[in-house]
Amino acid sequence: MRATDIIARKRDGFPLSKEEINWIVRAYTQGEIPDYQVSALLMAIYLRGMDRQEIVDLTLAMVDSGERLDLSDISDYWVDKHSSGGVGDKTSLIVMPLVASCGVPVAKMSGRGLGFSGGTLDKLEAIAGYQVNLSGERFRQLARENGIVLAGQSLALAPADGKLYALRDVTATVSSLPLIASSIMSKKIAAGANGIVLDVKTGRGAFMTTLESARDLARTMVDIGKDAGRDVIAVLSDMNQPLGEAVGNALEVTEAIEVLRGGGAHDLREHCIQIAGYMLKLAGRGQKWTDATDTDRLLRAQLSNGAALAKFRQMVEAQGGDVSMVDDPSKMPQASIIETYTAKTSGTIAHVYADEIAWAAFELGAGREKKTDTLDLAVGLRVPVKVGDSVTGGQTLATIYANDRAKIAACVSHLDAAFGITDQPVEPLPLFYDVIASS
Ligand code: URA
Repeated sequence: MRATDIIARKRDGFPLSKEEINWIVRAYTQGEIPDYQVSALLMAIYLRGMDRQEIVDLTLAMVDSGERLDLSDISDYWVDKHSSGGVGDKTSLIVMPLVASCGVPVAKMSGRGLGFSGGTLDKLEAIAGYQVNLSGERFRQLARENGIVLAGQSLALAPADGKLYALRDVTATVSSLPLIASSIMSKKIAAGANGIVLDVKTGRGAFMTTLESARDLARTMVDIGKDAGRDVIAVLSDMNQPLGEAVGNALEVTEAIEVLRGGGAHDLREHCIQIAGYMLKLAGRGQKWTDATDTDRLLRAQLSNGAALAKFRQMVEAQGGDVSMVDDPSKMPQASIIETYTAKTSGTIAHVYADEIAWAAFELGAGREKKTDTLDLAVGLRVPVKVGDSVTGGQTLATIYANDRAKIAACVSHLDAAFGITDQPVEPLPLFYDVIASS
């Protein structure tokens, strides 16, 4: 087989065969074909798309490019979650211990953020000592002993995705539905999940800015899971405004702890209860957690009785983190400058654009442009208002946490673009749109 023939077929709009996809993924992973040929193929896929069979074949070829994590000796059914990424999205920090506290083991590999959306690993590193790089053996041991482990993506799983993702990042081919769907699902399948809850975001702060494109992505990932023998539930949620109040690493961990203590922002708490509820539903396999009202009651109880927080604390301790920071989040990195950004007029909040809020936090140093950039874990924003809220002139719309005064002006210009206030009534944004399930 020749790479040029495969590129030409996709360029001309023909579907690729399983053999062609397997060949190119294997050859690229093993360094037998150069980046420039795969770049051309990625652009052809970006422009021409892929059909369902091609996407499934690409996903499974990426799974087969590396090892598969087998945790079946610990539990016969593993449930995992994945978020397609958003602003202020600290859901995993809450949902994983919440689900584990109900007796369902969770073992998750997460990534770092690039661009404006921070990754779970970056957030966890705000807790001093927390080890995100675990050996396969340690990962399994913690899953077995504690029923919870939250660590970095193993390079041994789906290595083709790691190489392809890096290339997509520099060839303007990230935002392609077949490439996103296969990238996400290859990692989840390789990580051994039997049941997967996909938290697919839509809106200004998401990869998929329109509801229709988010639905397409969700349906495609559910189909891939079905064809690969996995149970998948995709929840479409809003990402036009930030989730919760905090955006920025230590600030987001602090907010996650607030929810685990039974408090926290309403939208974030409700979002986590929904996602955790679907994880329990999958884990129950039609025998347990079939009644949504009972499940909801259980999850709320685990947040208010301290059980979910205790699980989070256990996870932090087991992974070498300083648990005194969980008990007192003010011990995490703190910003030296705190300023408020206030409403210029009275009225109703018409928009809190998630992308502008993310860029505002990015300007302070909360995000990274290149993989090698170092984050300032202390900086970011707290945004206590939501679309539809009434505000009066002078009321705080955002608190800015900075370490460098020179960066505040750029942050404020994004805040100016983020907020809109009107004298007309405005409906609050929905938390969820719909749910797509494999069965
Ligand atoms: N997350 C992934 O893991 N891959 C993508 O392509 C996009 C988001």
